[in-house]
Amino acid sequence: MTLGRFAPSPTGLLHLGNLRTALASWLSARASGGRWILRMEDVDGPRCHRDLGEAQVRDLAALGLESDEPVAWQSGRSAHYREALICLHEAERIYPCTCTRKDLRVLASAPHPEDGLRAYPGRCRARPWAGFEQALRLRLPEGTVAWGDRLLGTQEDDPALLTGDPLLFRRDGCFAYHLAVVVDDGAQAVTEVVRGADLRSVTATQIRLQEALGLPRPAYAHLGLVRAPNGSRLGKRAGALGLEALGARGITPETCLGWLGWSLGCLDRPEPCGAGELIPAFDWARVPRRDLPLPEAWI
Ligand SMILES: [Zn+2]
Repeated sequence: MTLGRFAPSPTGLLHLGNLRTALASWLSARASGGRWILRMEDVDGPRCHRDLGEAQVRDLAALGLESDEPVAWQSGRSAHYREALICLHEAERIYPCTCTRKDLRVLASAPHPEDGLRAYPGRCRARPWAGFEQALRLRLPEGTVAWGDRLLGTQEDDPALLTGDPLLFRRDGCFAYHLAVVVDDGAQAVTEVVRGADLRSVTATQIRLQEALGLPRPAYAHLGLVRAPNGSRLGKRAGALGLEALGARGITPETCLGWLGWSLGCLDRPEPCGAGELIPAFDWARVPRRDLPLPEAWI
């Protein structure tokens, strides 16, 4: 059975692009008779706020998207991430990195003849384990990772070229995004990850981490982004509206759902509806791959 999830960071209100991703993940799970859960990715302490997360949960509920399980908050799950790091240490898959910010800047700006991009070059790979006193990185095996994307078809990346050995733990005690995502998808038995195309580039790295932890690989779908009418990212300036701001402009949750459902190929034209009405029409084959602009009238 499909277990889909939506996992925003509570660093702001959900804009239409986020809501579209949430709806797509919910529809995909529901259309196959599956379940859907919500998780708050709040490991990045200072930028995350509980009240923003709660506002996100409320906005999703206003659209009819409610988690089948209590919402999981990553900030309360540190023990699981620590346990995963110990497993990785025992399997000799992580190593301490003592590079300072300045070291990393120098490494990043050094010329790379065969286009090593700005990937971490593994400078500390030979360092001995020093517990949780140092930052920790995953030792990536060589080679590309291929995966099937529900929307984009077969995808392939070399995470060593993209990022190099990813940081999993920071010296200040924070667990990195990749670790929390992969550990939680595994612990919650998530089978389908639907997220924005801006996260496509982290997939190969996360698959490598799943492999290192012996976790199953979920299916992936990376959706096009909702953009400002001029094509720029839907940042704060260009209208990260949130449902309440839309409501103040007279745009109801049903109107919003109609537009989102239409943008996902479920409706011939954007007309108000409820989330449940979209389920029978949802089909990945009809979801457009492209980015799409926010309606002019909603800015
Ligand atoms: Zn290092």
